Amino acid sequence: MSVLLDQVTKQIKTCKQCRLYRTRTNAVPGEGPENARIAFVGEAPGFNEDREARPFVGRAGKLLEKLLASIGMTREDVWIGNVIKCRPPDNRSPHVDELRSCAPYLDLQLREINPDLVCALGRFAAEHFLDGIKISEEHGKPKKVGRFTVLPLYHPAAALRGARVARELREDFKNIPKILSGEIKVESVNNNNDESQMSLL
Ligand code: URA
Repeated sequence: MSVLLDQVTKQIKTCKQCRLYRTRTNAVPGEGPENARIAFVGEAPGFNEDREARPFVGRAGKLLEKLLASIGMTREDVWIGNVIKCRPPDNRSPHVDELRSCAPYLDLQLREINPDLVCALGRFAAEHFLDGIKISEEHGKPKKVGRFTVLPLYHPAAALRGARVARELREDFKNIPKILSGEIKVESVNNNNDESQMSLL
């Protein structure tokens, strides 16, 4: 592992920057090849992820694996992580201060991995890159945000709850290879959320 990623992983595992450390079983730093071309970013670990210290290992993860298979990939081919590294109790939504204190870890990880495409799964991940984004309007439309190409997508957990969302997520996935090959044009946006801070290390 790169020295920096290793250092970030160690910091995440012992992090006490917000209240979530008190209720976690394990922090979930994320996993995947350091030179992955695609990074998937979810919201926060759930029950299974907290137990196993690995991202997307529950039902949403199984769906993510199916979606990856539909474009000829496996989870080992991509980096998978979350904006929030510790499970919020009862799977509640992350609080603003938790997002703020955890965000620099993701920025450091992505900076080091430097993927060609970041797939932001759901509102909280998409908002990390694009302030005020409406997933229902912007899903499937890749945007150049700072150094990254970001593809906002519905969260797989939302796809498990509704057939329309599931269908749209499947359709959006089909565009991933076309975005990587340059066949689909990427819109540049003037955004916001430039990397939070480098002050953690
Ligand atoms: N949902 C997420 O957003 N992340 C996970 O790791 C698992 C479920």
